[in-house]
Amino acid sequence: MSELLNVTTIFGEDVFNDTVMQERLPKKVYKNLKRTIEEGKELDLVTADVIAHEMKEWAIEKGATHYTHWFQPLTGVTAEKHDSFISAPLPSGKVLMSFSGKELIKGEPDASSFPSGGLRATFEARGYTAWDCTSPAFVRHDAAGATLCIPTAFCSYTGEALDQKTPLLRSMEAINTQSLRLLRLFGNTTSKKVTPSVGPEQEYFLVDAEKFKQRKDLIYTGRTLFGAMPPKGQELDDHYFGTIRQRIAGFMKDVNEELWKVGVTAKTQHNEVAPAQHELAPIYAEANVAVDHNHLVMQTLKRVACQHGMKCLLHEKPFAGVNGSGKHNNWSLTTDDGKNLLDPGKTPHENIQFLLVLTCILKAVDDHADLLRESAADPGNDHRLGANEAPPAIISIFLGEQLEDVMEQLVSTGEATHSLKGGKLETGVRTLPDLAKDATDRNRTSPFAFTGNKFEFRMVGSRDSVAGPNVVLNTIVAEAFAEACDAIEGAEDFQKAVHDQIKKYAVEHQRVVFNGNGYSDEWVEEAKRRGLPNIKSMVEAIPALTTEKSVAMFEKFKVFTRAELESRAEIKFENYAKAINIEARTMIDMASKQFIPAVIKYTKELADTVVAVKAAGVDADVQADLLKEVSVLLAEMKRALTALCQSADHAAAMEEGEGQAKYYYSDVVPAMEALRAPVDKLEMIVDKEAWPMPSYGDLIFEV
Ligand code: ADP
Ligand code: MG
Repeated sequence: MSELLNVTTIFGEDVFNDTVMQERLPKKVYKNLKRTIEEGKELDLVTADVIAHEMKEWAIEKGATHYTHWFQPLTGVTAEKHDSFISAPLPSGKVLMSFSGKELIKGEPDASSFPSGGLRATFEARGYTAWDCTSPAFVRHDAAGATLCIPTAFCSYTGEALDQKTPLLRSMEAINTQSLRLLRLFGNTTSKKVTPSVGPEQEYFLVDAEKFKQRKDLIYTGRTLFGAMPPKGQELDDHYFGTIRQRIAGFMKDVNEELWKVGVTAKTQHNEVAPAQHELAPIYAEANVAVDHNHLVMQTLKRVACQHGMKCLLHEKPFAGVNGSGKHNNWSLTTDDGKNLLDPGKTPHENIQFLLVLTCILKAVDDHADLLRESAADPGNDHRLGANEAPPAIISIFLGEQLEDVMEQLVSTGEATHSLKGGKLETGVRTLPDLAKDATDRNRTSPFAFTGNKFEFRMVGSRDSVAGPNVVLNTIVAEAFAEACDAIEGAEDFQKAVHDQIKKYAVEHQRVVFNGNGYSDEWVEEAKRRGLPNIKSMVEAIPALTTEKSVAMFEKFKVFTRAELESRAEIKFENYAKAINIEARTMIDMASKQFIPAVIKYTKELADTVVAVKAAGVDADVQADLLKEVSVLLAEMKRALTALCQSADHAAAMEEGEGQAKYYYSDVVPAMEALRAPVDKLEMIVDKEAWPMPSYGDLIFEV
């Protein structure tokens, strides 16, 4: 019989969470820390020393020998440097295990090799990591043993953010301040804090590790750079929500257990649309914790896959012609006393507040569609957004029939006097209708959809941190709230001022609302007529970071300085160029060393066969035709390979920056496609035994 698993016992067992802190810390220390967590008060060193000591004792009981400041530099993945707890040997020759408050709250990694986009000159290589006590420390168990991981922010010597966490925390401040202002206007005097709640759904692929190892493209770039479609794709939709196979189920079981231990609320799992594609969703958490947890989810998926003889692919588009992977960023605003600002509510009073919140979000998303789009930009996501696959690159909002109807009434008559579904009107306040929460349908083609009590931003790349999109969401909504509050605060007639503001935003930003099929060509045309931006690629998206409008907003809410934004844009251009360069080099390598030799060998066999068959006095037309067809494609492959080499060499010699990134996009990427085409055709006609690597069919149908 299998061992019983008690989830409630293992959940959070490796987390230095509130219960552990209450048990272990002296009352006063615990209180100080809670104040820091809740109100952002600075932590004094005496308190930090006590916490560090208790944290170390607790971690050692869990088997930990090392600690690490776990941070999120702009490489896109998390980074860590491990230090053991041992102190200098005593005269006796023994060592003690020690960990000071100073070591807990501040680290100083030599950070010269992390991207800084010019913010940190190499002679000033110091970077600082500072403990983020709003995200709990945890002990991670892996081949390295047990390690105490301390979530940290990463800044330069002069305080500029070099990571994803710092701006996220700043943006949470901004949305907190402005949301409280708005709540106070509506008479709420009790809520003390408003935090963005985030629930990121994670999509991923699993492939067999042995097959993975035979594909250099998967090894170096995380996606297949060549590969013909198998006879069967996803057209039958038989994988989606299908029965989970035993090998995958065993993997998911282990993933869940690992995640629960470190306090991640892994909740939902299912097969996705594409063969070999799956999804994992947690219960939502405060944005900062949700971002950290999503990193843990990605790391855990990868680690556990290896233990099961598989590889987890987090790339946005591992297989051309098959659905790619994204991340759905569910977002709402929650008060410390449990109210959700995106809940339409039951009373007219809540109702009117909700309509103001909603129309502010319309304004925010419409005004800064370019920034939202940029927050989902990733070299891999270029294959999804606006390419062969949804969601489209155009930002629009899905509200659902009922809310859209309310908007239309507001726009056309200035008042909304009834709500669809014939519900009884309990206006009380002017002429706004009650809103039934479940009167919204689902629309899976919209990049930004209202789903009852939250928005779902569906563009995010599967590999990316969700920090970026949430920084943008928090800040643009903070800006809209601030503007609305400026207009309403001090108004003589509050009801009228609110009503006017709702109407103004509804009228001015109705164009961003679209409830139809976001995947259709008509929408692309319609969006153009409406003047909505359609930003098709990462290189075209990046400049949104540094427009005067963006800089002004981010500086106003102290989320980014101009220098920080410029450095981020620079890093992103560089990251794009590097990613495409690696892909191009990998293609060149595979074509030169694997495909061309394999095809030459095959043509030799064919030629020998033609001679042998003819010698036997038999007609060898079929063999000769095939030989010709293969040779023509071989010549095309060679030409395309030469062209790609030239293009990639030219790009690599260019000065780093926007110009280089653009060249990779406009010249190198098409040259890569030109090389892929003949290779994929060859794969369809060359003997499978002669093909040097596993096919799409082998990879996605035989996990
Ligand atoms: P779907 O139909 O898209 O799968 P679900 O209702 O199952 O939607 O929720 C998906 C994700 O949304 C989950 O991660 C969930 O925790 C998150 N979520 C639910 N409510 C909220 C909320 N108020 N704020 C943020 N995220 C939420
Ligand atoms: Mg979803």
